[in-house]
Amino acid sequence: MKPNRNVIHQKYNGHCAYCGVSIDIKAMQVDHIIPQRNYEWHLRNEHQIPPFLSHLSLNDINHIDNLMPACRSCNGFKSTFHLELFRSEVQEQVKRLRQYKPTFNLAERYGLIECKVKAVVFYFESLNCQNS
Ligand SMILES: [Zn+2]
Repeated sequence: MKPNRNVIHQKYNGHCAYCGVSIDIKAMQVDHIIPQRNYEWHLRNEHQIPPFLSHLSLNDINHIDNLMPACRSCNGFKSTFHLELFRSEVQEQVKRLRQYKPTFNLAERYGLIECKVKAVVFYFESLNCQNS
């Protein structure tokens, strides 16, 4: 049984677990960290199970620890990716914009856009860092 939407929404005080944007509960989407589509495969093969989810069993697909409040944009982009694949895909975005969007390059040359070289840290991870 899935936890109540309110519980999921409040997991990060009404913020998207990934990008940190504030989300209305009606617009909130519920993401499965270990993707729903091949949950069982991930568990059986111990493939890309984040350490904080190592306690999950085959019946725990809808365990609160595997569910994240997500904005439409993050949830749509994450799709069926596991967490580290999602992170690496987000990390690639500036490179892809430079490759495929001439207007991005133009804006960058004129100094309208400045890109930072930094590792992608999800909102929920940045909270954990502050708490430890
Ligand atoms: Zn988001």
